Amino acid sequence: MPEATFRFYEELNDFLPRERRKCQFSYRFRGDPSVKAVVEAIGVPHTEIDVILVDGRSVGFDELLSGGERVSVYPVFERLDVSPVIRLRARPLRRTRFVVDVHLERLGRYLRMVGIDTLSPADSEDAAIVESSLIEGRIVLTRDRGLLQRARLQRARWIRSQKPREQLVEVIRCFQLEDGLAFFSRCLVCNTPLESVSSTAVGQRVPASVRVSQESFTGCPGCGRIYWQGTHYRRMRQLLDQLGLPGEPVR
Ligand SMILES: [Zn+2]
Repeated sequence: MPEATFRFYEELNDFLPRERRKCQFSYRFRGDPSVKAVVEAIGVPHTEIDVILVDGRSVGFDELLSGGERVSVYPVFERLDVSPVIRLRARPLRRTRFVVDVHLERLGRYLRMVGIDTLSPADSEDAAIVESSLIEGRIVLTRDRGLLQRARLQRARWIRSQKPREQLVEVIRCFQLEDGLAFFSRCLVCNTPLESVSSTAVGQRVPASVRVSQESFTGCPGCGRIYWQGTHYRRMRQLLDQLGLPGEPVR
């Protein structure tokens, strides 16, 4: 059987068994498969990969291997300029938008809380998530490796942490979103940007005690929810302070 030498870089090593991490290893295959097929057989989803070098030459996913090659595989570089080589996908999206899978609902809510455009489809079907990613140019966030192997999916990140708070920090750091945060500027439920609403316009939609104690309100033009700086707000604010995230609430 033909074999080639592989080396995976940076966080792509998360997908490998310990003995294959951060070192060269040989891998055997049958026939003359595409480099994409072999890399996925090794366990690394194509959505995590941005650049593949075969014997020092950058190639597309469909490059065929026949044996004897040296293959280097690099992750999606959201923050590095690697323009002289072929990137395996379109340029990074300028406005970073996400769609989370059904198991990351808390993360979705947290991302909306800091003002990042994030959809949580009610439909838990993988197909609906892939569709939303392709049509609206959203990056899929998931912990489901099966979803990452979907052939049509182009941009996705496999979330490492299992705790929603850490996941929030992971996404912000990974996509370098620190400068674009606008706390409490989006509806936590439906993702629509909020608008300020006067206390008279709020009317009966909030309890009378809230109407007299609060000065400023925001409302969601999408689902009609009204937000104000009550106990819930203070708890969320505390969480953001604990996480040390920059950003100010939008008034
Ligand atoms: Zn809403």
